[in-house]
Amino acid sequence: LLTVEDLQKSYGDELVLDGIDFTMDAQDVQVLIGPSGSGKSTLLRCVNRLTEFEGGTISLDGEDVMAMDVNELRRQVGMVFQDFNLFAHLSARENVALGPRRVLGKSKAEANDRALDELERVGLADQADSYPAELSGGQKQRVGIARALAMDPKLMLFDEPTSALDPELIGEVLGVMRELADEGMTMLCVTHEMGFARQVATDIMFLEDGRLVEHGDPERLFTDPRHERTEQFLRRLT
Ligand code: ATP
Ligand code: MG
Repeated sequence: LLTVEDLQKSYGDELVLDGIDFTMDAQDVQVLIGPSGSGKSTLLRCVNRLTEFEGGTISLDGEDVMAMDVNELRRQVGMVFQDFNLFAHLSARENVALGPRRVLGKSKAEANDRALDELERVGLADQADSYPAELSGGQKQRVGIARALAMDPKLMLFDEPTSALDPELIGEVLGVMRELADEGMTMLCVTHEMGFARQVATDIMFLEDGRLVEHGDPERLFTDPRHERTEQFLRRLT
């Protein structure tokens, strides 16, 4: 479903991604870990072209993302960020309905129904008319997930979706992500939640200084990392 070949990305003189290669099949849950500044967010941003890259190829379902209409690409690739980016003056339902209405061209009634379905999927049917200021961080993030899902994405990108949350709210967001994975959503996730990574990921990639140091099955990576750098990184986390 996603192919990344020899991806190169620089900011000025600094090479931030240096020859990244990986593929994802439909329904894979690919977790990306690595130290701060290793290029995790940049890699996600290249996939939906929030940032340009100089070298290599990214294809979605066999189509070169550079050849795709960027709005169509972003419809097919949902993204959930650390901070929720909800519109404060719109209710949860209106936030979720906005994309179906504006981008998919659905009628107001259709977009509303779709929004309610997606809010129900993330366990927030009863908060549809609440405004972001009335929601907890975990609820806001679940609205953010519902908003991305309402576009029928082929792939979901998550960039540290629980990092801005109080510890007691992390579980509800990870629970929604786990359900999505169980339903067969294809997901590329940056997270420091190693329990989630270990239980839900089909593969974990360790990135350092813009290079893919190693990747593998979660159990293997956690119990028997092949590279010293991976081992050091994992040891520091536990
Ligand atoms: P973190 O865990 O802190 O989120 P990260 O792995 O997501 O880190 P990136 O945000 O992808 O790392 O950054 C990779 C490198 O690119 C860093 O050296 C960073 O300083 C640099 N960088 C990121 N965004 C920009 C930008 N807009 N302009 C210039 N340099 C940038
Ligand atoms: Mg980041």
